Amino acid sequence: MKLQRVLQYAQSLLELSVGEGDIAVDATAGNGHDTLFLANLVGDDGYVYAFDVQKQAVDATLHRLLDNALEHRAIVLKDGHENVAKYVTKPVSGAIFNLGYLPGSDHDIITKPNTTIQSLESLLKLLKVGGIIVLVIYHGHEGGKEERDEVIRFVSALPQKYIHVLRYEFLNQQNDPPFVIALEKVKETNFTLK
Ligand code: SAH
Repeated sequence: MKLQRVLQYAQSLLELSVGEGDIAVDATAGNGHDTLFLANLVGDDGYVYAFDVQKQAVDATLHRLLDNALEHRAIVLKDGHENVAKYVTKPVSGAIFNLGYLPGSDHDIITKPNTTIQSLESLLKLLKVGGIIVLVIYHGHEGGKEERDEVIRFVSALPQKYIHVLRYEFLNQQNDPPFVIALEKVKETNFTLK
């Protein structure tokens, strides 16, 4: 297959933006796959900040890091990604969001438009020039379409001189497949992006 699947494409964007010694953020740790992926990219001189509001996700992510002996490269915070600026103060090279609910868990605990956008605002400020924020937008669940639409409205209004905004999506797949939105900072901005 020549066209990368959505999740592969999301990870390839992280590979493009995150390297050894970098700071990266997994905004929705979930089962920890992306935290581990980022921990591999940052090397021993970099660091990953992973966020999740559910104990089950925090535990799963910690276990995955421990199983791969990479726990020293990441901190897994049981807090909302909207609080990212409380913890992360250095420039960020890459960040990823997997929106929606954790498969196999409580479907009531989902990411929400307001907190997702608040987190994006903070991360856009923290992002290095050349850094990328990747969002995997799941929209099949209840509340998913509202979040999708609000995120699209927010990112579509970002000034193109500073932020490039991309959507990568298969148009002929059934059952609300996830798609990718990527934001690359191309120029430093000190005004508010709202
Ligand atoms: N839909 C994806 C998985 C998404 S997991 C898939 O099918 O693969 C989304 C994770 O975000 C969940 O573990 C949930 O607990 C977490 N979450 C929800 N609100 C959050 C917030 N404000 N900050 C950080 N994580 C949050």
